[in-house]
Amino acid sequence: MGSSESRLTAQLGTDVGHWIGGAEAPGTAQDRYADVYNPATGAVARRVALATPVQVDVAVKAAAAAFPAWSATPALRRARVLFKFKELAERHSGELAALITAEHGKVFSDAEGELTRGLEVVEFACGIPQLLKGEYSEQVGTGIDMYSVRQSLGVCVGITPFNFPVMVPMWMFPVALACGNTFILKPSERDPSVSLMIARLLKEAGLPDGVFNVVQGDKVAVDALLSHPQVDAVSFVGSTPIARYIHDTAAANGKRVQALGGAKNHMVVMPDADLDQAVDAVIGAAYGSAGERCMAVSVTVAVGDIADRMVARLKERVPAIRVANGMDPAAEMGPLVTRAHYEKVKGYVDTGVAEGARLVVDGRDVKVAGHENGFFLGGCLFDDVKPGMRIYREEIFGPVLCIVRARNFEEALQLINSHEFGNGTAIFTRDGDAAREFANRVQIGMVGINVPIPVPMAFHSFGGWKASLFGDHHMHGPEGVRFYTRYKAVTQRWPAGIRAGADFSIPTLK
Ligand code: NAD
Repeated sequence: MGSSESRLTAQLGTDVGHWIGGAEAPGTAQDRYADVYNPATGAVARRVALATPVQVDVAVKAAAAAFPAWSATPALRRARVLFKFKELAERHSGELAALITAEHGKVFSDAEGELTRGLEVVEFACGIPQLLKGEYSEQVGTGIDMYSVRQSLGVCVGITPFNFPVMVPMWMFPVALACGNTFILKPSERDPSVSLMIARLLKEAGLPDGVFNVVQGDKVAVDALLSHPQVDAVSFVGSTPIARYIHDTAAANGKRVQALGGAKNHMVVMPDADLDQAVDAVIGAAYGSAGERCMAVSVTVAVGDIADRMVARLKERVPAIRVANGMDPAAEMGPLVTRAHYEKVKGYVDTGVAEGARLVVDGRDVKVAGHENGFFLGGCLFDDVKPGMRIYREEIFGPVLCIVRARNFEEALQLINSHEFGNGTAIFTRDGDAAREFANRVQIGMVGINVPIPVPMAFHSFGGWKASLFGDHHMHGPEGVRFYTRYKAVTQRWPAGIRAGADFSIPTLK
């Protein structure tokens, strides 16, 4: 660990506070606090302060005060701060990833991957001078020219989930900042520490004070942000009931809003699929990060006679997944994030059994030696799952895969299109016609063809359909630039142009 890294670690106290106006703002004795766990041991690692509306107001005012100068800073200079931030984040990547694993539980290599995917959005945002270029039309009328520009919004808020404490904030703030906005991050209270490291690195990169702020908290802080008159836009990622609430409340308060929700991602395996490829794909996509990914495959639709062969293979593979502390280099799956979440996921397995699905692999009794109080659940596999069952309809968000059997392509497609959620999906097949038809007709925002987790690259945009996204814009990529800017059209004429006197009818070109 370099000296700079140890300095960052030393700054992490026992209590996680806020970051306002370019400095840490610790919680006070009057504040409420929540416990933050080490999920691998089950022990309370530290506490996080939960902001009051007064602290939220201080943060919003800091962001509002920093906005005029930051939005007037040339885009190229804003991009240079992000370049520097990327360099610093890469230098501290080991520490950032270790902190993700320490509070989330995911395996270290997966935490490193999360950081890399987040930094790809920073790379995209570094191209902001090109992305903000407007359009110009000469001579739209005699002596009249017209141009359009995209301008920043003001104070933008990001409210993020526990499952990607670095990547999901990075879907938002690099683009928001590059576009000239100031930003307030409200991270998940379950893994809040890494947000403060991000704040410090942004400051070290040269970001002016107040441009990026962190407010820790729960519903109280969120509600204060949603109703604050100086907040202009809200980006949210989390579960569907909260996404709907955020969307409706922010919109009712006159704010621009994008709210991404939960998922139930189906992977269709056609009878002609390469079975080895499909089994490898589903193992990683269903059980990676213990299923706590919004793009995790939680349903496999096995079409026709491939189902029995697929289940037989999975029955061998799922119990062999190495469950361990995420910092163990041999670990393939870490613990769930909290005991409450562990109980919820385990409860779904109990429900599935009661509903009559066939539990082919039962991970409920898995124990990790030396980590007896950790929140570990082994991989679980259900076969013969039916669309009416709760384990099919609801998002479980754990290492539980449901196999649904379908007679043909049409039945598989209808299952997906009838489901409430519409985040991601995939088809595994060798048949180009089937793949093309699937991509065209499926009612889902992100589609993979022989790719199980089709997360778009940073220069495309991420988002689902139906109950997986409320609002008009997907995140990062071109959609992110549209969300974090507003369009202005300017029509100009100079005194030397034609003088036609006052005109009382709408101007038209004759
Ligand atoms: P969550 O909805 O519980 O929390 C998300 C954020 O909302 C957190 O910051 C939390 O503090 C806040 N929050 C929670 N309850 C609130 C309330 N009543 N009022 C106001 N704010 C509240 O989600 P989570 O458990 O942290 O994350 C997992 C969920 O996120 C899953 O449903 C997953 O599918 C979803 N997710 C979706 C995407 C996507 O891109 N669509 C990506 C990642 C995660």
